[in-house]
Amino acid sequence: MYRFYWVLMMTALGHNCCRAQEDPLLFRIAKYKDDKTCAISYTFDDGLREHYTLVAPKLKALGFRATFWINGSKINPGAGAIKDTTRMTWAELKEMAKDGNEISNHGWAHKNFGKYNLEELREDIARNDSAIYHHIGIMPSTFCYPNNAKTPEGVRMASEHRVGTRTVQHSVGSKSTPQNLQQWVDTLLRSREWGVTMTHGITYGYDHFRAAAILWEHLERVKALEDQIWVGTFHDIAAYTKERDLLQYDIRTKRGGFVITPRLELDEKLFTEPLTGVIEGKGIRNLKIRQGKKKLKLRVTADKVLFDFNPYGGELSVTGAGLGGR
Ligand SMILES: [Zn+2]
Repeated sequence: MYRFYWVLMMTALGHNCCRAQEDPLLFRIAKYKDDKTCAISYTFDDGLREHYTLVAPKLKALGFRATFWINGSKINPGAGAIKDTTRMTWAELKEMAKDGNEISNHGWAHKNFGKYNLEELREDIARNDSAIYHHIGIMPSTFCYPNNAKTPEGVRMASEHRVGTRTVQHSVGSKSTPQNLQQWVDTLLRSREWGVTMTHGITYGYDHFRAAAILWEHLERVKALEDQIWVGTFHDIAAYTKERDLLQYDIRTKRGGFVITPRLELDEKLFTEPLTGVIEGKGIRNLKIRQGKKKLKLRVTADKVLFDFNPYGGELSVTGAGLGGR
């Protein structure tokens, strides 16, 4: 306790004889939520029944959330009206959404963008949005191209009023081995990238695994690396990364601390992810951060403080022992 105060006092003394711009505290926006090293979105295509019977329980057990891109025309109306035993029902999808999974748009009828005109595609996508909203209660704000077929005009149209669309994906399925999945994770950690998987069948169907255990063991390994890897829905990571890239802010010192003013020009009804701010340096332990009247919750580690803030919420006031001011 004694030593703790001494360190703070020395830091404060140091400040009294330094100019404010020499403040040793460093502020930055975390590349990913919670300042994790890389990110992964697991995405599953076509509304296959095994995504409900096998994948969803596994994700729930691990505390992961994923994205399921579905075609409304192929979803079964209900348990008493199964038209295709390989697909889910709306009630099953709703249950998955309640667990925090993203149920999103893969076209109503899986129409290939290379084979239909824009108006037909627009109608098909809108029909799927409406069906998902009607049955699940959440309007999709992402999109996945059927057969990954894209045209520049199609991508522009599908991206309107959405946080993102899947334009790059890493196939995880029949060719996956424990080794190549591990290599992929290692590459993400090294390059600090956001990886988006694409999976169809699990034990049968298109591109299914040689053994489902390959997927389960991979997910468990990623779980063990959770302090470095943000596993989130496509929606959440697409929104975070876009907000992060477009955020502007300035910092000014004030009595007993400093003020960060964030500015973000995006649709705030669509891009709703809080951003993680990071402050590094000596004297971080007694920090207090407020945004408006709200006192932000801080996560303090040995050398940094993390906090989530609303990028549209205005000034962040940072105060605390060890910070400059006179
Ligand atoms: Zn598909």
